[in-house]
Amino acid sequence: MTQTRGEFALIRRFFQRPTKRSPLGVGDDCALLAPRPGMQLAVSSDMLLQDRHFFPDVAPQLLGHKALAVNLSDLAACGAKPLAFTLAIAMPKASAAWCQAFSKGLFALADAHDCELIGGDTIQGPLSICITVFGEVPQGQALLRSQAQVGDDIWVSGHLGDARLALEALLRQHVLPARVLSQARQRLEQPTPRVELGQALRGIANSAIDLSDGLMGDLGHILVASRVGACLELQVTRSLLKAAQHPQMRMLATSRVDICTLSGGDDYELCFTAAPSQRAAVLQAAQSCATPVSRIGQIEAEPGLRLRSPEGDLLQPPRWVSSFNHFS
Ligand code: ADP
Ligand code: MG
Repeated sequence: MTQTRGEFALIRRFFQRPTKRSPLGVGDDCALLAPRPGMQLAVSSDMLLQDRHFFPDVAPQLLGHKALAVNLSDLAACGAKPLAFTLAIAMPKASAAWCQAFSKGLFALADAHDCELIGGDTIQGPLSICITVFGEVPQGQALLRSQAQVGDDIWVSGHLGDARLALEALLRQHVLPARVLSQARQRLEQPTPRVELGQALRGIANSAIDLSDGLMGDLGHILVASRVGACLELQVTRSLLKAAQHPQMRMLATSRVDICTLSGGDDYELCFTAAPSQRAAVLQAAQSCATPVSRIGQIEAEPGLRLRSPEGDLLQPPRWVSSFNHFS
């Protein structure tokens, strides 16, 4: 019987596409994956809930992009190559227009990374999206949080803090010039997962993490897992807020720049550490995937995180520098 309404019709119309690599995709009780010999599967889930992770009126196409992007970002942090993903989604009603736009954004990013949708679950309920991604990484070569070494350089990709700046503007905490807002808003709503950079850093970086909750907090995870400390150069981190480069943003307070770059979430850049002897290799890896990287500090033996001011003074992180934490 061909169903034209309800759950199964929605799935068939918007989420079922032939798979190229996976032996079995949407339509059976399980999908099947066939990792290549010598590869380990890298697996990660991320959930987006309306009013917590996105505004109710966000364009569904952007939401489709972001729901997958935040998951691909986890694969990037591990140096894994995307293979496939599943999509569990709750939505208040079965709107074809909504699903059309959502799947358009989702599949545009999926196709760009050759990552296929192989299954999921669809239910009625308050809008929430949970994607699980599967990637592959050569045996033993995944980048981990736990392998940072004393003396390593600390690097980040791209820019930091623009997503937070846009979020604050959308929450009407401040006003941004229209051009600045639209650029920053794109960073918030359409993050770029650094998938190629993550893979290019295998064998070069000692440790890596993706920045979803803010630099200080996420780098803090590397420090704890690796039992080391760090010092960051404020002069460099301050230069990473792209919005601040705009001529109309000269009046931006340094404290706001620091809040956005050090504790702003939703950047989905990579933070990684590598030995100073790997500097040329890091820059070459970054260049090979046209992703800028900046050296922002050093791993140290002394536990904790310190900030060096442009004048050379060592500062303790201010109290506002805590990153997002759901149950705190
Ligand atoms: P089951 O009841 O056996 O778990 P479902 O009836 O929930 O299966 O789903 C039917 C098929 O559709 C399965 O192959 C499932 O993986 C797939 N599926 C369900 N929802 C989605 C979705 N949102 N995106 C992709 N595939 C989905
Ligand atoms: Mg079943």
